[in-house]
Amino acid sequence: MNPMAASDIVIEIAYVIATALFILSLKWLSSPTTARRGVFAGEAGMVLAIAGTLLYHGIVDYKWIAIALVLGTVIGIPLGRVQMTAVPQRTALSHAFGALCVTLVGTAEFYLRAPEVPKFMMAVLSLEIILGSLTLTGSLMAAGKLQEVLPQRPITYKGQNLVNLSLLGVAIVVAVLLVVDPSRMYLFPMMIIIPLIFGVMMIVPIGGADMPTVISLLNSYAGLSAAAMGFVLDSKLLIIAGALDGASGFILSVNMSKAMNRSFSNVLFGAFGQVQATAGTGQEARPVRSATPEEAAAILAAANRVVVVPGYGMAVAQAQHKVRELCDALNKRGIDVKFGIHPVAGRMPGHMNVLLAEADIPYDKLLSMDEINGDFAQTDVALVIGANDVTNPAARTEASSPIYGMPILDVDKARTVMVIKRSMAAGFAGIENPLYYLDKTLMLFGDAKGFVGNIIRELSGGHG
Ligand code: NAP
Repeated sequence: MNPMAASDIVIEIAYVIATALFILSLKWLSSPTTARRGVFAGEAGMVLAIAGTLLYHGIVDYKWIAIALVLGTVIGIPLGRVQMTAVPQRTALSHAFGALCVTLVGTAEFYLRAPEVPKFMMAVLSLEIILGSLTLTGSLMAAGKLQEVLPQRPITYKGQNLVNLSLLGVAIVVAVLLVVDPSRMYLFPMMIIIPLIFGVMMIVPIGGADMPTVISLLNSYAGLSAAAMGFVLDSKLLIIAGALDGASGFILSVNMSKAMNRSFSNVLFGAFGQVQATAGTGQEARPVRSATPEEAAAILAAANRVVVVPGYGMAVAQAQHKVRELCDALNKRGIDVKFGIHPVAGRMPGHMNVLLAEADIPYDKLLSMDEINGDFAQTDVALVIGANDVTNPAARTEASSPIYGMPILDVDKARTVMVIKRSMAAGFAGIENPLYYLDKTLMLFGDAKGFVGNIIRELSGGHG
């Protein structure tokens, strides 16, 4: 066997194992108990894929690859260190880098081959370039909105959808013209520039609250463009990895839309969150009942069953470890404590599960919305910690509410509701929460971590 053939076999084996690891990684990531294994499998798969590619005999010079590896590492390490709450915008940036890479590779491949580009090749190249370019600017816009360097509010104007769809339409016409006759090379830059503009315009009318869903959709586009690049480069690994990425991103977007009771078209064209500028302002102050940590501790100590409902505020306050201590303190008194997890609590799917797992709260105590909702009627205290929209009963009753129809955690069915938050400010959807004005509701004003800490102190004080 000549050495060339041997290295080809090694590459193929590395790619097959990498592919299997990517598939297993997705499977394992779907449960908290195996998620860590899933992350390692994904990382190992990526290392194998890169190693296999570096062995490729067509590489004539490793200098540029080495520079790219250094550059990627320099950018990647700080990106990996962001706060958990900034993960959505970090993910958007990763998509932007992926999309930039796909667009650059596609452009290079076109100019290497043009004007003799076979029709199928030109078609997948066009798909790669269009999806890559719009994902690049779309992801940058999404990251900017989430990081609040760009206004979060949806910006709309008359005929916006028509303008956007026309832009996309023109890009597709250009692509078709190029497929028919690739020697019209002057058209190629248009196929990059128009989707770049479309990517910006597509995100402008979408509000900050919908951005995580859009990011997951952009993830899907980035995956599809990478799969198209796989066809161009004749790489089965890239086709499979891109297809996995594209499909999982799409499924995630659909699931997130479902959990918010929104249709896809409503997310993309509905300009959700536009009303939030006016909602919550100009409302006359209605009385609410508030309580001190001492009173809250006394109510908890007298309870038999407590359901904790965490939300974005717990994540911001990094209160998960204190919440664990509170859970332990209540368990010690024989009080049953469970956690009700809404699928879109926080700012990314699985946000609460990750934080509570980090604080070593047993998985069997974390119940999904469907599992816990039937229990609230027999619950003495629903303790809401930094959650707002996911507990808002207006979603059930007020047809005019922007979150009408969104499934919520039925905390208002518990005997007593206690809500830890800093003020009467609205949540992500920017709307008022009638839960706070119920007779059975006690507002515990303060930072989640500090307030939970004070309750624990009161509970242990009561003991000693
Ligand atoms: P939320 O409705 O955004 O409310 C969070 C609450 O936490 C706020 O009202 C805030 O009130 C409070 N808070 C902030 N910092 C705090 C602190 N340090 N201590 C105590 N409280 C604090 O959060 P949610 O109930 O988790 O709902 C998630 C929202 O995000 C939903 O609208 C959902 O549709 C949207 N979303 C989520 C995802 C996802 O994947 N998870 C995706 C897309 C959209 P104060 O300012 O008064 O403290």
